[in-house]
Amino acid sequence: MTRLVPTAAPRRTGGCNIANVGTGECTCLDYVQRGCGMDRCKHVQAAGLFQAVADREAKIRHVASFLRNRERLQPAERKRPAFLSPDNNEVFSAYCTENDLQPIANVPEREP
Ligand SMILES: [Zn+2]
Repeated sequence: MTRLVPTAAPRRTGGCNIANVGTGECTCLDYVQRGCGMDRCKHVQAAGLFQAVADREAKIRHVASFLRNRERLQPAERKRPAFLSPDNNEVFSAYCTENDLQPIANVPEREP
């Protein structure tokens, strides 16, 4: 079976592709040749992983900021240094340890 490749395939310069994580579309030749019904190309998968990590870091930053601000309001004798650290991961880990919670895995699971 011969596949037809569109002659108006997007041309790129500089080795960059534009990937839409929401729809799974990409400007790479692999996506154009295989079509949108197939598995997502490597660019969309990589962008999805990057977005998942960025979302996770944003959530940790938000939670750590809340915990740090809450700790600043405590009296001096009750302040815990781990919660006042400028490192967001350290604050988040201290919170997880204190409450017997399991931290979020560092690497999100790969899409099937
Ligand atoms: Zn692609």
